[in-house]
Amino acid sequence: MAVKKHLSKERTLVMVKPDGVQRGLVGEIIKRHEALGFKLVAMKTVVAKEDHIEAHYTLDPEWRRVTGEKTIAGYKSKGQTPPSEDPFEITDNILKCLKTYMSSGPIVAMVWQGAHVVKMVRKIVGGTEPLTSDVGTIRGDYVMDSYEMSDKDNRSIRNLVHASGSVEESNLEIPHWFDESELIDYKLVSEQILYDVNLDGIME
Ligand code: ADP
Repeated sequence: MAVKKHLSKERTLVMVKPDGVQRGLVGEIIKRHEALGFKLVAMKTVVAKEDHIEAHYTLDPEWRRVTGEKTIAGYKSKGQTPPSEDPFEITDNILKCLKTYMSSGPIVAMVWQGAHVVKMVRKIVGGTEPLTSDVGTIRGDYVMDSYEMSDKDNRSIRNLVHASGSVEESNLEIPHWFDESELIDYKLVSEQILYDVNLDGIME
């Protein structure tokens, strides 16, 4: 039987998107992950090619359908008519815009590690649309973009940061951006306080 990995080994992919880099938010975004006790195991600045971006967003074969359906439901919940009833047609356009957006300048790709890192990072990143993202989240605190504006200009919503949506997704996304040799295994001294069962070694 396969031994289940300790939760502290969970990893997620985070990318500061071109608008986040231009806004000077790399440090602030890193700070929020560090503050939670997560460990930075890889980081690099890259200018991505459009086909690499398309491959990233379609690693999950369900992404086209789910994103299209989510967008159609979003229009309907606001009493608006979606541009199409076909989720795949909607996503084709989202993908086209994403390729332009995500390859427009440098992005900073990172891998963070720690217990529940996927869920915790999604929590601090916030919902897709900054206008409705919670206060206190990265998207909610640092930008005001909305579907109303991005639709009008037929562009991606600019929301500063990407984070894997699930552990399964992170397992596909991390190798898409990083070679195994770029992921550094090391101990962080604070992990003793976060994960050690008996908090041994504090007292002299
Ligand atoms: P998230 O990044 O919150 O996980 P998705 O995976 O659904 O969101 O979409 C990926 C990215 O595509 C979003 O972060 C956003 O930049 C863009 N996007 C998604 N849906 C739309 C939309 N309906 N209109 C404009 N941009 C969108």
